[in-house]
Amino acid sequence: MLARALARGQLHHALMLVGPRGIGKATLARGLACGLLCTAAPGRGCGVCGICQRVLAGTHPDVDWLRPEGAAGQITIDAARACHLRQQSAPYEGHAYVIIIDPADALNDSSGNALLKAVEEPRPGVHFILLATNMQAVLPTILSRSLPIRLGRLADDDVAGILAARAADISPERQRMAVLLAEGSAGVAIELALDPALDRCLTLLREAIRASAAGPSLIFGGDKGPLWTAFSAAVQEVAAAEADAQAQAAEAQAAVTGKKKRQSADKADKADKPKAKDAPAHLRWVAGRLAELWTLHLRERTRGRSGLPGLPPADRLSPAATVRQLAILQRFVARVDRNANVRLLLEETLLELGDAA
Ligand SMILES: [Zn+2]
Repeated sequence: MLARALARGQLHHALMLVGPRGIGKATLARGLACGLLCTAAPGRGCGVCGICQRVLAGTHPDVDWLRPEGAAGQITIDAARACHLRQQSAPYEGHAYVIIIDPADALNDSSGNALLKAVEEPRPGVHFILLATNMQAVLPTILSRSLPIRLGRLADDDVAGILAARAADISPERQRMAVLLAEGSAGVAIELALDPALDRCLTLLREAIRASAAGPSLIFGGDKGPLWTAFSAAVQEVAAAEADAQAQAAEAQAAVTGKKKRQSADKADKADKPKAKDAPAHLRWVAGRLAELWTLHLRERTRGRSGLPGLPPADRLSPAATVRQLAILQRFVARVDRNANVRLLLEETLLELGDAA
């Protein structure tokens, strides 16, 4: 449908791509931008010409990404205003100017207002592509001015095909697990397959399920108990992976900028390491991944299966208890990013999950 509209030059000026995380919303947005800007294959995009390559690399001047900034995680009014000003005299180099808002629910009242007029009635050649996982969270004024395109989940076979192409050196066993966990989202499957902390997080989930079933004795079993041992092992794995990635990035930078920078990068890296160990961001990340995996485990149950392999079977839970637990996990995910004390929140949640069973 989109390809036909593109080829006819009738692509809607404000598309809202809606779908779960990792489903390919940003990839589709880049593809549409190629179609709008490519001169080798106009109305379709070739994916290989200089224009397409710049679009795909995120460096084309006629494609602007509006993303959240700062601690509030919102698109600022300054960024929105700058975009609004640009679109008034766009397009520049090509014959289209594409503004990708990722995600659309990061627009607040003021930044949303700054773009409202442009979204409603953009100049010829100006296209807004808004990405959203949850349409309910998008400002109604923006929502009502855009055309929603819902992206469904892919079949497991398709996810497996994409994963095999992108993460070929990952063992088939791990690939299967990632496909199962990803629930039709290729981006999530790739992320999981490459995640060095996946095994640790699955061990943590096993311990967390046991602790929630056993109650306070295991939940408050102390740092040396199986639950919190598994938790810190996962956190350390995440911290180590991040330190590795930073070291690699520093090395790559050093290769470009020469030895002097390399020394300072090494120093900075060493100085960061002790702090990185228990950084709240890592605790939150692990807690979030735990809730995500737990949710998937329970969803397997709602599909009539017994849950993820290697975990206590979820089919001992009644359907009502499964729904209650899913709601508790959803609340946990919504709170974990803002909560100062991740451990306390997790303890409370595990107690609640135990009661809900
Ligand atoms: Zn091209």
